[in-house]
Amino acid sequence: MFDKILIANRGEIALRIQRACRELGIRTVAVHSEADREAKYVKLADESVCIGPAPSNQSYLNIPAVISAAEVTDAEAIHPGYGFLSENADFAERVEQSGFVFIGPRAETIRLMGDKVSAKDAMRKAGVPCVPGSEGALPDDPQQIIKIAKQIGYPVIIKAAGGGGGRGMRVVHTEAALIASVNMTKAEAQAAFGNPMVYMEKFLEHPRHIEIQVLSDQHGNAVYLGERDCSMQRRHQKVLEEAPAPGISTKLRDKIGQRCADACKRIGYRGAGTFEFLYENNEFYFIEMNTRVQVEHPVTEMITGIDIVQEQIRIAYGEKLRFKQKDIELNGHAIECRINAEDPYTFVPSPGRISTFHMPGGPGIRVDTHAYQNYLVPPHYDSMIGKLIAYGDTREQAIAKMNIALSEMIIEGIKTNVALHKDLMNDAAFQHGGTSIHYLENKLGINNK
Ligand code: ADP
Repeated sequence: MFDKILIANRGEIALRIQRACRELGIRTVAVHSEADREAKYVKLADESVCIGPAPSNQSYLNIPAVISAAEVTDAEAIHPGYGFLSENADFAERVEQSGFVFIGPRAETIRLMGDKVSAKDAMRKAGVPCVPGSEGALPDDPQQIIKIAKQIGYPVIIKAAGGGGGRGMRVVHTEAALIASVNMTKAEAQAAFGNPMVYMEKFLEHPRHIEIQVLSDQHGNAVYLGERDCSMQRRHQKVLEEAPAPGISTKLRDKIGQRCADACKRIGYRGAGTFEFLYENNEFYFIEMNTRVQVEHPVTEMITGIDIVQEQIRIAYGEKLRFKQKDIELNGHAIECRINAEDPYTFVPSPGRISTFHMPGGPGIRVDTHAYQNYLVPPHYDSMIGKLIAYGDTREQAIAKMNIALSEMIIEGIKTNVALHKDLMNDAAFQHGGTSIHYLENKLGINNK
């Protein structure tokens, strides 16, 4: 096994990866910005290196700084976590060129999946069902664009090939608005992602967001670990996730899961990954692949008993998958609430010092957080300060446990979205299960369409 791994991330996922390493007997190097100097996981790591000032473009996104930290500490591999450099193909390439192992897919796979047009194309060829839409990027000719939209049928959604994080998308309901919308999305895509290429999809009116977790080794073996339902979203950002997805039959899960595992073999995928789908009227439509560990990976871990981060590390080291598809069983139900430092209803970030911090516990409760009493939530990064995960034999039991856990959770000094989660656990439609991606915004009276 590796002797030492550098963790190129911060926050709860830095701590999560560190714990996986420690269990495997691997020493860890934490890299951190000046703002994260006092962080718990920095103190707990075997070594730590400050890689720059607070703004992420000068620290967590600073490729030369991360690579030299690996050099001076003699790390063998780099785990990128999620966000930051995790889906940056140039970074993965630089890591490997510098003689380290990148804990994730090959750079060319990241590049293929990072461009949503090429990703969709690859998936279509691999037999994964996609949202009906333009074959590749939209042409320049307005007449042709109008023709494509007519064929697909309104409403359509214009999406940036290089988009991510829920940005670079625009819904169009009428032909009159089409060309202006395409041009605006192109201009925004150029400014935000440095790539003006856009494509068109049928806009599904009431889909759910359901994704399949996969693990694929370097020896041609791939498995799927069931699905997660991440439909509770605001501005295309996930708020809570669960596994399994309510109402998905074993037959359908196995069919779509097997397609994903087969696609991994076909493209020579390496590591953990997620196929994201929109799901409507019993059909799955691929939208994108995430080539990294996801925030919501714990719900899958809870129902499969598989430590996804440890498996990522084993695969990167060159080990064969230790289980076959038939060995993977899904048991019980898990729900994850993302705990954010923000106003529960306006979603305005609320960084600052946590004055009181009491975490819940008991059977089936898991808390993944780097925060603690007196921790200063820096204003520079994502507002997520932790994840609360509840596991029960049934969905009802998981909801009951989550309700109790939320009532035991006390975080003072900053605002958090705990109240929103309490509200959701007691929401009749959520309790019933199977709400669409628009449910939360409709409930909150936000119209983002
Ligand atoms: P990103 O990489 O920015 O997360 P995705 O392609 O994964 O972009 O889409 C993010 C979200 O946008 C989806 O979860 C869904 O809410 C919405 N969305 C994307 N494509 C469509 C579509 N064709 N119809 C309806 N909603 C869509």
